[in-house]
Amino acid sequence: MNDHWYEDGLGALWSPYCQMKTAPPPLPVVATRGCRIVLADGRELIDGVSSWWSACHGYNHPHILERVRDQLAVMPHVMFGGLVHEPAAVLAKRLIAIAPAAMSRVFFSDSGSTAVEVALKIALQYHKNLGRAGRERFLCFSDGYHGDTLGAMSVSDPEASMHRAFRDVVMKQFVVDLPRDAAEVRALDNLLAEKASRIAAVIIEPLVQGAGGMRFHSAEVLAAVRELARRHGLLFIADEIATGFWRTGGRFACEQAGVAPDIVCLGKALTGGVIGLGATLATDEVFQAFLSDDPEFALMHGPTFMANPLACTAANASLDLFETEPRREQARAIAAELRAGLEPCRGMPGVVDVRVTGAVGVVQLDTAIDVRALRPRFVERGVWVRPFKDIVYLTPPFVIRPDELDRLTEAVREVVAGAGV
Ligand SMILES: *Cc1c(COP(=O)(O)O)cnc(C)c1O
Repeated sequence: MNDHWYEDGLGALWSPYCQMKTAPPPLPVVATRGCRIVLADGRELIDGVSSWWSACHGYNHPHILERVRDQLAVMPHVMFGGLVHEPAAVLAKRLIAIAPAAMSRVFFSDSGSTAVEVALKIALQYHKNLGRAGRERFLCFSDGYHGDTLGAMSVSDPEASMHRAFRDVVMKQFVVDLPRDAAEVRALDNLLAEKASRIAAVIIEPLVQGAGGMRFHSAEVLAAVRELARRHGLLFIADEIATGFWRTGGRFACEQAGVAPDIVCLGKALTGGVIGLGATLATDEVFQAFLSDDPEFALMHGPTFMANPLACTAANASLDLFETEPRREQARAIAAELRAGLEPCRGMPGVVDVRVTGAVGVVQLDTAIDVRALRPRFVERGVWVRPFKDIVYLTPPFVIRPDELDRLTEAVREVVAGAGV
């Protein structure tokens, strides 16, 4: 082991989402356990964001580690073109069994963004294969977020998002505000009456828009969008990469809202946060459109590390935990504790909203947060929280203990109280 890896290597790294000229250096982390991130100097931080919503069972869960270790000894990876293996076959069956609607096929990829790219390609080609020319755009929503790759950026509110720099480069989509009432649903209906022949699908983060601004909408709004899609011949893509696996209180947000999508994207917590994996699920109706004697009808996509056996094994082990451990009850308890712990922020100077749904807690401020100034204040308090835009949010691991969650909400209260001045 090299004791100087941090000093030696830092200058070779390019960090995510930051201005490298002014950003404070990333903190050296040497281990994870339970709900904690262990820093090189021995300090432990309670993780308030589950490593970007992924480490839902906490870190280093022994069941996942054991299964992955076994798989590692047998077959860490093999290509998926022309070959198939048990971890992927088992995982596909299990995902279909719990999916929020009757899905028939699972396409595996490496990450959430690639799961979205695959969903967009499937939607475009679905219409093409059915001979419906011209359906080459998407309907998507302001404050939405679907990933960082070019196709995903195009449906992630390119005018207003962090991807603004690419707004003139990405494919032009129909970006609209989520309808909030019957009149706005009618307005969207009218827009679709005019434009639907050019639109392949609507893509939406059901119930909770995450990285675009942590905004919530109701099951009724989601159902209304679903109904408009059906009426106007658009496929309905549910991006459950952040919301899936109990984060919003139900196993999937769509299921919770009683909405049946045509395509579902999964990622983040899919492997329990252990290894990258994306999954795109499609209904049989969608899948059938790709069957033909004409080779042009095939879905031409196949990542090198598609359905990586370690990742599929981690996901299977994660699904075991969802079956055997009380995640639903934990999500519910976390919701109540987040409500109690964050509600006092309402009324603090600079706070415009406090909202909680499922195991997602949000404090929204009236201005963009100086993340540089805030981070050390959270770290001083022994917690790991990553504010962005005007948002401080908590998406803790489901296994977090009440005293750990208290420390998270207390830190948010103290730091937000200090930030208001
Ligand atoms: C994080 C996220 C993605 C992108 O997933 P990556 O694994 O980071 O590529 C896409 N959609 C939603 C809703 C997400 O939260």
